[in-house]
Formats: sequence, C-alpha cells, structure tokens
Amino acid sequence: MTKTIAINAGSSSLKWQLYQMPEEKVLAKGLIERIGLKDSISTVKFDGRSEQQVLDIDNHTLAVKILLDDLIRFDIIKSYDEITGVGHRVVAGGEYFKESTVVEGDVIEKVEELGLLAPLHNPANAAGIRAFKELLPDITSVVVFDTSFHTSMPEKAYRYPLPTKYYTENKVRKYGAHGTSHQYVAQEAAKVLGRPLEELKLITCHIGNGASITAVKGGKSVDTSMGFTPLGGVMMGTRTGDIDPAIIPYLMQYTEDFNKPEDISRILNRESGLMGVSGKSSDMRDVIAAMEAGDHDATLAYEMYVDRIQKHIGQYLAVLNGADAIIFTAGIGENSVHVRDAVISGISWFGCDVDPEKNVFGATGDISTDAASVRVLVIPTDEELVIARDVERLKK
Ligand code: ADP
Repeated sequence: MTKTIAINAGSSSLKWQLYQMPEEKVLAKGLIERIGLKDSISTVKFDGRSEQQVLDIDNHTLAVKILLDDLIRFDIIKSYDEITGVGHRVVAGGEYFKESTVVEGDVIEKVEELGLLAPLHNPANAAGIRAFKELLPDITSVVVFDTSFHTSMPEKAYRYPLPTKYYTENKVRKYGAHGTSHQYVAQEAAKVLGRPLEELKLITCHIGNGASITAVKGGKSVDTSMGFTPLGGVMMGTRTGDIDPAIIPYLMQYTEDFNKPEDISRILNRESGLMGVSGKSSDMRDVIAAMEAGDHDATLAYEMYVDRIQKHIGQYLAVLNGADAIIFTAGIGENSVHVRDAVISGISWFGCDVDPEKNVFGATGDISTDAASVRVLVIPTDEELVIARDVERLKK
C-alpha cells in the first residue's frame, strides 16, 4: 500500500491531493493560499471534514512542511515514510519534455529555464519540486507537463507564419496547455464509446475559467486552441483568446493603456473575455444569470463565448476530417447544460444532437440522441489522478 501526492504549485498557492495507490483512492486534499503573504490559509479536507488554519507561511518549503505535518496531525498518515511518490504539475515543458519525467539530473534546472515560456508558473512549480526534494529526498518525484500531450502536433499545426528565426531563436510556436486534461478525457471517452482510442477522432473541449479545445486523433493531440501561451484560442473567463495581432500596435499608438508589456498582458489576460465584454463577471454562472435578467452586455458575452467554441469545433472537424465524438469537461463543460445545448444545437448539421433528457445538470457520459452520428459526451476531468498515475508508472 503506497501513498502518492499530486501537487499543483502556483506562485502563492499550493494545491495537493493524497492518493492511496494503486487503488486510486483519494485520502485527503487541500490548498495552501497566500504563501509569502501575511495570514496564509491552509485547508485540509478528509473523511468529510474540512479543517482550516491561518498562519504565516513564508515560502513553498514551509508550505510543504505544514502540509506534511497536517497529514500526521489529522492521522491521515502515521509517518512520512508512507508517502512513496510525489507528482508535480508543471505548466511549460517546451519542446524538451515530451512526457512525464522523473526528477533527477538537471530536470529542476530545465524546468526553471523553461520559465521563459511561463514566467508566472514554472518558477513556482520548481519551488514546489525543490521543497519536496528537501523534505522527502528519497521518494520518487515526477514532473507532469501541461504541454507534453501536445508535443505530438505536426509542425504545420504548431508553427506560426512568422519569419523562421522567431521559432529557431526565440522558440515562438504553439505549445498548448491543459494537456493532462485533454489526454485523460480522451482516454475516458474511448471507454464510454466502447472503442479503442487508437481508432477514434475526438474533439475535447476543456471549458473552465481557462478554456482550450483539442483535436485528438488515435489518442494523440494533432492541434489545440491555446498557443504560445494560454492566451490563445477561444474566448475565456478573463482572456481574449485569438484576436487580430494588429490590434496591439494600434492600441499602443492610440491609447495610454497599452504602453507597457505588463499592462498589455494584464488587459489581455485578466480584464478581457467574459469579464471584459459583460463588464460584470468572469464567472459563467453570473453571466448567464445577468443574461436571463435581460442584460445586453452579458448576452453578447455569452453569445460570443459560444460562437468561439463552435468555430473551433468546426476547425477541428476539418483538421480531423470528421469526428466520432465531442467531449465537454471542466467547470463550464461539466456543469453548464445551457452552454452545451447552445454550442451543439448551433452545429447540428455536422451530425451531433443533444438529447434534452440526457443533457441535465450532473449528467456524465453520452448525452446524445440515439440517431446522432457524432456523439457528445460529458466527462469530468481529473488532472490530479493523471499525475498520481504517472508517478505510479514511473516508480522504480
Ligand atoms: P479553472 O480554470 O479555474 O480550474 P473551472 O474548471 O473550475 O476553472 O471552471 C470555472 C467556471 O465554471 C466558472 O466560469 C464557473 O462559472 C463555471 N461553472 C461552474 N458551475 C457552473 C454551472 N452550474 N453552470 C455554469 N457554469 C458553471
């Protein structure tokens, strides 16, 4: 009986989930917030209980120490020895990490180097890896990348039509994101459809606060909507998704707001999308509520959001030359009957059709009518489980 912990470290947070493996049973999970600030909050959930404490946690090593102590304090483990593996989610693996990798040699340095591609995330991920190495040096430590599932994309899909030197010298290309989620739901979809993944053409829609859509052929990503960074692709909670790049130099010239790179980045990443257009909220539930109350801007935001998803599905139906199924996952994909219905009913010509009796809140699995030739599935994603499985698989 071994225990494996899946870690998702942000710059000021650390999300974790402890599994008993190989049973894949979740023993406890938690979140440490406000690392490096005053009044950090550590929440531990286990056995239907939720325990919270507020204290000052200066850095990631201390956060890991507190999490491990909590596991003992709440009798979730008797000693540290019970934990035999840790898996870390890392945002950018670049072209270097094509698959999940055991942390040894120069792996941590490489993760830090790739911080160029994800300056907010990779350094925090590396801090989490180092913290575990310091406190539990002998356990199997594995890094799992958001990008590695997409390293199977063909060059024609991942290159941008810029002069080649920006690819060769500056590494500007499409990397994508949410890879563990797309991979997981594609595998689960094969089970629901009762067919081998190798023969399926799938369009996976990970639609949460961040959103991306992937074309999956034979279990491999062949194109994805997020680009060089997670800013590309469909419209999101606070991100623009794809826009005409000429808008940026134009606004640099004619507004004050677009003067500095960090301001441009903030506006495009944090103030746009559902938030920017509705002027009210980045949360789909609020947008739908405002739309139902007759708000014009919220209605427009919703319609644009659905439109961008439909267009990306259309692109990938072309990329794949047809599809066996469209899969919805993540916060909106799993929970919003409204969005699923709006997206699919507008593209029914392709052969997809949602059954209103099956497309209900809490539904999972196939929600299509019997006659639909392209199936529509709802599959809850589980990125932590993918991480825990990769640790198990790579254990020596
Ligand atoms: P993150 O990218 O932060 O992990 P999530 O996958 O948790 O995001 O998704 C968050 C989004 O899911 C929010 O926009 C939220 O409104 C939406 N959501 C959650 N439940 C529902 C629901 N019942 N109906 C519509 N949207 C929902």
